[in-house]
Amino acid sequence: MSKEPSINKSIDKINEEAKKVLKEMLSKRVVTALLTQVKEEKGMIRRVLVTKESEIENIDLFTPVIPGFSVATYLSELTKDNPLPKPLGVTAKPCEVKAVIELTKLEQIKLENVVLIGTDCYGTFHVLKFKEMVEKGENPNQKFYDSFLRREENRDFRTYCKICASPTPENTDINLGYIGKSSKLYIEAKSEKGKIILAKIGLTANRDKEREEAITEIIKERGGKYNEFVLKSREEVKGVEGLREIFKDCIKCQNCMEACPICFCKECFFDSQDYDFVFNKYLKWTVEEGTTPSIKAKIQFHLGRMLHMGVSCIDCGLCEQACPEDIELSKVFTVITNEARKEFNYQPGRKIDEPVPLIYAEEEELEEFLKSP
Ligand code: SF4
Ligand code: SF4
Ligand code: SF4
Repeated sequence: MSKEPSINKSIDKINEEAKKVLKEMLSKRVVTALLTQVKEEKGMIRRVLVTKESEIENIDLFTPVIPGFSVATYLSELTKDNPLPKPLGVTAKPCEVKAVIELTKLEQIKLENVVLIGTDCYGTFHVLKFKEMVEKGENPNQKFYDSFLRREENRDFRTYCKICASPTPENTDINLGYIGKSSKLYIEAKSEKGKIILAKIGLTANRDKEREEAITEIIKERGGKYNEFVLKSREEVKGVEGLREIFKDCIKCQNCMEACPICFCKECFFDSQDYDFVFNKYLKWTVEEGTTPSIKAKIQFHLGRMLHMGVSCIDCGLCEQACPEDIELSKVFTVITNEARKEFNYQPGRKIDEPVPLIYAEEEELEEFLKSP
């Protein structure tokens, strides 16, 4: 692999190819709309529902940013009460697909009439870094793609992206990607539905050995980085003192919770009447600690959130991106979720029919519980 970025290798050209596929899907009516992302006039990215072929022009499928919320959050809003009446194509990065799978199992998304179109992802910038680049007239798309071509960690990628070992999504219907040895659009049918759709729009899947190898290489390299990060974080954030240190500047604005696609409860405990009682306790702690919000309150909030969704956390890092105080939530969440995954032998987003441990109990577990004093 050349160390020099090639001027002929452009992610925008690959995006053009991907747009043709999406246009065919709309024109052949295999989907009636697309939940996807478009580039606005000033270069920022916005989630939209595209219903007309003319609107496809502005789609920017591989752009290296998640602008605020995961696409899973939007899909949940659209489908949690009723399934969609007509087919909707949803484009999603690997961590967003995992969130869709988890929310489906948690009955917050109904997948009927959803066509999941996964997109490759080598990494994304913090939304504010992305904005800064755009304002300076830089091209974040080409910047990330050059990093990919050189297989170089981009220091501006979000922490979670630097350790993400999911460069291409699983559990989709179709994947559109750029990861491979050639600079071209890779098209894959990942389900029976995907195969039928590709046949209807007259396209053939073109996954090749070189793509397989490139994906395996990235998974291996990033998997190693994830393990190193977890080990280092475990040392850095030890015990109650470690938690106090990491959350000392938290202002308990709850932005992390709002941005998290996996915070799934229909009625949030932190918005409920029950929480008022806890809040009164906080006031007492505040007097003891002489500060507000009290550190105990902050830790209680974060541990409470982890307890609810920790085992389904899909390492998207949108919590960390949403934090106005730059709290390094990754250092706490990766350690806890990694332990939870091992404990339950569970990988969030891995399989649609793998029950979420939080809402599923083995008979023996109940017996153990009944026997306990
Ligand atoms: S965590 Fe980052 S690199 Fe991984 S899929 Fe999400 S946005 Fe892409
Ligand atoms: S977003 Fe940051 S400051 Fe706000 S509650 Fe979460 S960790 Fe605390
Ligand atoms: S806790 Fe953070 S990393 Fe985990 S799913 Fe929620 S937003 Fe993503």
